[in-house]
Amino acid sequence: MITAFEHTLAFCRNMDEKDPLRKFRGQFYIPQHHEREVVYFTGNSLGLQPKTTQSYIQQELDDWAKFGVEGHFLAKHPWMPYHEFLTEHMAKIVGAQNEEVVMMNQLTVNLHLLMVSFYRPNSKRYKILCEAKAFPSDQYALQSQIQFHGLNVKEALVEIAPREGEYHIRPEDILEAIDRHKDSLALIMIGGVNYFSGQVFDMKAITEAGHKAGAIVGFDLAHAAGNLKLELHNWEVDFAAWCSYKYLNSGPGSVAGAFVHQKHLKNTTLPQFAGWWGHDKKTRFLMDSTFVPMETAERWQLSNAPILSMAACRASLAIFAEAGMEALIEKSKQLTAYLEYVIGEINNEKNNCLQIITPKENRGCQLSIVANGYGKPLYEQLIANGVIPDWREPNVIRCAPVPLYNSFEDIFRFGEILKSLL
Ligand SMILES: *Cc1c(COP(=O)(O)O)cnc(C)c1O
Repeated sequence: MITAFEHTLAFCRNMDEKDPLRKFRGQFYIPQHHEREVVYFTGNSLGLQPKTTQSYIQQELDDWAKFGVEGHFLAKHPWMPYHEFLTEHMAKIVGAQNEEVVMMNQLTVNLHLLMVSFYRPNSKRYKILCEAKAFPSDQYALQSQIQFHGLNVKEALVEIAPREGEYHIRPEDILEAIDRHKDSLALIMIGGVNYFSGQVFDMKAITEAGHKAGAIVGFDLAHAAGNLKLELHNWEVDFAAWCSYKYLNSGPGSVAGAFVHQKHLKNTTLPQFAGWWGHDKKTRFLMDSTFVPMETAERWQLSNAPILSMAACRASLAIFAEAGMEALIEKSKQLTAYLEYVIGEINNEKNNCLQIITPKENRGCQLSIVANGYGKPLYEQLIANGVIPDWREPNVIRCAPVPLYNSFEDIFRFGEILKSLL
């Protein structure tokens, strides 16, 4: 890892030239601003479109035109098992066995389906532990699951917050809370990365502590999948869900992922909501009225698969498979460290007005920045000048240089533009 950074364009161009992943940038459409590529720092919100996506989708449109319903079997990539074409690449990205992963539905839908199976409160164990300021959809999902079981949200939801005056949650405070609630804890459901602060949680330690306390442990990996090295299987995480349109570049609202650990797959006493696509595929079309679950994560599928969005997901996963998570993470660390360095250089000139609230030791590629003395207008001016970060109320600008298509030169340009606006 290079740490001798220089705040010059020449340094950035040299770094980009030496970047073993440099060819991937050309495989994406980069939005334009006044006929120039923007500095796109929102791959954590909506990843850019691979240039291959269109042909992957076109293939399915062509096969639909050509075969009609028979495309389920005759298409070049038959629709009947289409979701299976995504599994291997996806499983690798999250560190899972193939049988533990399925692409289906949307993220919040998957969280609900998995909580139906894994949040089983009783009179003794009924609490859910989560991070304060979790993504709103997760908060609504957790609250409504609690209410669905006739319980009181105030009593059943334990939220771990940063200490007074701090922006992120101390890891020891999470472990302490798990221990404090150990007799009443049913489920721990935390984001792998907090969307607001960019803090990465120690999923291995949380899973261990949760299991020791007798709880089930699940993660929302929306900001972790494709961003961090994950080992869901080895960490013995019980379940997880994520979307594919952020770091995974599968297009707006595209199909989501779900993980269920091997140890649960054959447990027939586990309650679940069922649909025909979760039925044993060998006998699915006998159309019998008794549900016979698959013995893989596919068991949680309800409906037949959304082929067009899966085609986009396939296009993107092929790129990930080629680049490899190890190399992506290596570059990600360098890019983010460089962004941190450039912000430090600007701070030297501008009275330390920029505060990075993402913890240095626990982060992926996102840096959340508070510009003290500046509000939303600064963000709007960045947009007006061809930089696309995003804004999160009340005061945070999130920047995520992603290793597949962002460059050191992007960061240099961001720095120059930011400096000129302060
Ligand atoms: C992006 C995101 C979501 C979005 O949920 P959808 O069901 O995909 O609309 C939910 N949770 C987290 C933590 C997110 O970052």
